[in-house]
Amino acid sequence: MTFKPANKIQDLQYFGEFGGVNPSISDSSTYTFLSAKKMFDTFEGNAEGCYLYSRHSSPSALYLGEALAAMEDTETATVTATGMGAIVPAIMQLCSAGDHIVASRTIYGGTYAFLKNMAPKYNITTTFVDITKPEAVEAAIGPNTKVVYCESVSNPLLEIADIAELGTITRKHNLKLLVDNTFSPMSVSPAKLGADVVLHSLTKFINGSSDTMGGVICGSQEFIDELRNVNDGACMLMGASMDSLRAASILKNLRTLHIRMKQHSANAMYLAEKFEADGLKTVYPGLKSHPGHELITRLMNPQYGYGGMLTIDVGSLEKANELMELMQERNLGYLAVSLGFYKTLFSAPGSSTSSEIPEEEQMEMGLSDGLIRFSIGLDNDIERTYRSMRRCMKEVGVYPINEVTNSSIV
Ligand SMILES: *Cc1c(COP(=O)(O)O)cnc(C)c1O
Repeated sequence: MTFKPANKIQDLQYFGEFGGVNPSISDSSTYTFLSAKKMFDTFEGNAEGCYLYSRHSSPSALYLGEALAAMEDTETATVTATGMGAIVPAIMQLCSAGDHIVASRTIYGGTYAFLKNMAPKYNITTTFVDITKPEAVEAAIGPNTKVVYCESVSNPLLEIADIAELGTITRKHNLKLLVDNTFSPMSVSPAKLGADVVLHSLTKFINGSSDTMGGVICGSQEFIDELRNVNDGACMLMGASMDSLRAASILKNLRTLHIRMKQHSANAMYLAEKFEADGLKTVYPGLKSHPGHELITRLMNPQYGYGGMLTIDVGSLEKANELMELMQERNLGYLAVSLGFYKTLFSAPGSSTSSEIPEEEQMEMGLSDGLIRFSIGLDNDIERTYRSMRRCMKEVGVYPINEVTNSSIV
């Protein structure tokens, strides 16, 4: 039977203090104890259900964490102030000085910068590999490797990781498989496929309204407890905890994620097919031409579609910029980084979100200058959007060139 993440979220039942249909927000940074003994026990980690201080945990953060754990089908989860505030502690908890990581070379720019420039300061080194080649991953594993790190659907090139295959490799070598699932919530369930830890930036699709930041680490109870340990827990000590008010607001948005993902996916699929038919170089996992199409079709929960992200290549950065400015002027979306908003967002990753990656490496991984990354919005009339986009493309002269036969389109 296929896994149904939305059902898992809907089956949770939390009431507010006065019978409210939403759980009460714990508007406190610290919590009282009836006895000093209980406070001591809580610091020792032996007082289940007691709250101590909101950097450690709060009822609101726990509600959101439990909902996300239900979505990812992990034992539990802990929420953090940002996506990077989840990724960095998860890695730091698992790796010590001298340890090694094998990571996909096409990952979020911030994660790449952390692994490449910052982790080496703590003598944690990373080998970056082509994640679509599991044999390259296995070949990069050495005696000090602790973690294999990837994204289910990678940023910005939309490469698909074979999480099932990677899980087989990491189990064989006794490593942890960490998967950032930010681009494909609901549609991919990495823990079901063999990931040990699932990470998200909640800032993107999951919250979906571009009004807040957030992150989550989903994993085993044991790992999440370690992260929150007052003596050596990376979440507790690095300090990127989520505030209660934010946790409550994200929980409310999470409830509509399945509906939003279906609409993002349907709109992106429509545009990807049109763009490709028009002769534009289009990358979208839902297209048969995508090298990972069969793989993702096998791995995904099909009812949520192939996601809201697509890229096109318009040849040069100048053309990309011109087109994005015009599309913004025509209100087809915003020239902005980030993703998962109700409006379409577009940016040129080579000069923005992936600019941490040196130009030479960008070239090698196929991140070309003229690449535009789209996070397709929730447009109710995507055909109209397409017609307007096409007009913009013609005006700036990027439109290739399966010329218009149907004049109603122009
Ligand atoms: C945005 C993003 C992050 C970082 O999340 P923040 O909330 O910005 O800290 C990590 N991974 C991916 C894939 C992202 O898109």
